[in-house]
Amino acid sequence: MFTCEATIVSFIKGKPWYYTTCTECRRKMYKTNEGWLCGSHENLPEPKFMYCASTTIVDHTDSTTATLFDEALTSIVGQPCRDIVIQEGYTDHYQVPKPLLEAVGRLISMHVRYLKSPMPGSSILAVNRASITQPLVVTQGTPPSLTQTTPNGQKELRSNQSATSTTTRKLSFTEPGLFLTTYTTIVLQH
Ligand SMILES: [Zn+2]
Repeated sequence: MFTCEATIVSFIKGKPWYYTTCTECRRKMYKTNEGWLCGSHENLPEPKFMYCASTTIVDHTDSTTATLFDEALTSIVGQPCRDIVIQEGYTDHYQVPKPLLEAVGRLISMHVRYLKSPMPGSSILAVNRASITQPLVVTQGTPPSLTQTTPNGQKELRSNQSATSTTTRKLSFTEPGLFLTTYTTIVLQH
């Protein structure tokens, strides 16, 4: 595990931003007409709502795909996932809600680690904990447009922040292209 200072550039389209697990056994839960069920429990009134979002993140060295997990996003958003889904009504798994989108462009201290992926030789960059280190910046124009096919050709972003810390590790890859694919669905099945 290491820490890096990075910015969420975007949430990856077509990926869910939360999932639901059983409050009894942590399996994935599904809603039926009678209530919520997993493989072992049924008719529970409510599951546990967990953030889990695939994002593109960038620091001044590189950009990559990262999966932000519940604790990290709870800290970034400032509200638990349940509040966003139940109280604020953002129930669509694939429509990233405004409170999450507001994190885009902010400098975030991320505790990350690599999870093994089922693809041989590859891994998933997982962000388990995070905290916002920079308040919302007034827009600098349109957000940077990053394409995942040219991760090493990006303009340097936020280079004025490059000296904020000497202890944080950079995102720069040892194996370019390794993180161009996400495996969120696989992560969810642990
Ligand atoms: Zn269960």
